[in-house]
Amino acid sequence: MASGLSSKGLTATYGTDRIAALLNVNDPLRHLSDGMKRAMEPALEGKVLSKEQAHMLLGCAPDELDSICKAASILRDRGKGHDVSFSPKVFIPLTMLCRDFCGYCTFRQDPAQAPHLYMTPEEVLEVARAGERLGCTEALFTLGERPEQRYPEAKEWLQRHGYKTTLEYLLYVSRLVLDETSLLPHGNPGTMSRREMEGLRDVNVSMGVMLENISQRLCEPGGPHELAPSKYPRARMKTIETAGKLKIPFTTGILIGIGETLEERVDSLLAIRELHQRYGHIQEVIIQNFRAKPNTAMSGHSEPVADDLLWTVAVARLILGPEANIQVPPNLSAREYPLFLLAGINDWGGISPITIDYVNPEAPWPQIATLDKKTRELGFVLRPRLPVYPEYLDSKDGYLRDGLEGRVKSMTDEDGYVKGGIGRYVGHTS
Ligand code: SF4
Repeated sequence: MASGLSSKGLTATYGTDRIAALLNVNDPLRHLSDGMKRAMEPALEGKVLSKEQAHMLLGCAPDELDSICKAASILRDRGKGHDVSFSPKVFIPLTMLCRDFCGYCTFRQDPAQAPHLYMTPEEVLEVARAGERLGCTEALFTLGERPEQRYPEAKEWLQRHGYKTTLEYLLYVSRLVLDETSLLPHGNPGTMSRREMEGLRDVNVSMGVMLENISQRLCEPGGPHELAPSKYPRARMKTIETAGKLKIPFTTGILIGIGETLEERVDSLLAIRELHQRYGHIQEVIIQNFRAKPNTAMSGHSEPVADDLLWTVAVARLILGPEANIQVPPNLSAREYPLFLLAGINDWGGISPITIDYVNPEAPWPQIATLDKKTRELGFVLRPRLPVYPEYLDSKDGYLRDGLEGRVKSMTDEDGYVKGGIGRYVGHTS
């Protein structure tokens, strides 16, 4: 990967020394401890790491980090080549009301802070149409967890408009966007029941819920999820598993730096892998880093440093294997995000040319042209994708509903990426 590249000429906003060090690793197995070799050798031979082998990666010494990044890059190259995808999207925060309280969240609001409670259908369509004009293909619906269970105002608003639940309203606006615009909905409304997902899958090409972490310990008093029952790992795993049973292309991931141990991170990745081995539906795994925000319970909590994220990304690739789609959101590591290309990722996630990241409003997405430039500088090719990954477009596999297949096919090229490629967004074709 990227052999022959030097750090000279790279955009100077991130550590060229660090890039050079990562590029200079030739043999990832040299100078490794025996324990690390016992995990890395089978991974490089294409074997699925056992839990015991995966746990050996916990022993990675600081001077072994570049080697595991190199091994992860080799695996990524085997499965994905040099293609790195992103999804041109609009972010639609259908409601910022939420029944839960996570220790790090600034997205959630209560009715006093959000007097309009829900976006109206007209507001949803306005955002979607603005994105359509700029070539967006994804309508990302992100919203708080079942606010009607906490706030009578939310319940009343829904009843007044003819819905019993927020998820019923999500179903309606997803269909509206699908019918009235060229965008494809991806619903991210928190935990969902089987019945809710059976409805939503007709009008969402994919859905998602972050696992965040498999450890129940984080839900104990004093933990970030103490007041967020929807974040209980059993509830999250049940939603992800049900999506697998229903053959819904599904996005999940882990949130790092919220008080979990490294072992709990590895166990979370193993849990995601196990569900994917069983059902084959995990279309992407996001490795998201915690950002400390003012006016939250965790405002004073330290954020994970770049090397911590690099290690986690590389470990994710070694555990999940060459074929997995692994994503790091570039806006949450604005200075150093290109580094993660050298630790095994192959996706930048949703990037919006018009809407902010409402979950991290302080962290703007990079311009698509900048993302493209930085991706190319390291020898990769940026390709726009739909909210459903190329691997899930074949209808005979049962991942796309009949009504969505023709629509999706008409939007994609022979590789399953958005027709017209990156040129639609940045004005060049390669
Ligand atoms: S992170 Fe999600 S579930 Fe937690 S408080 Fe915020 S909106 Fe609610």
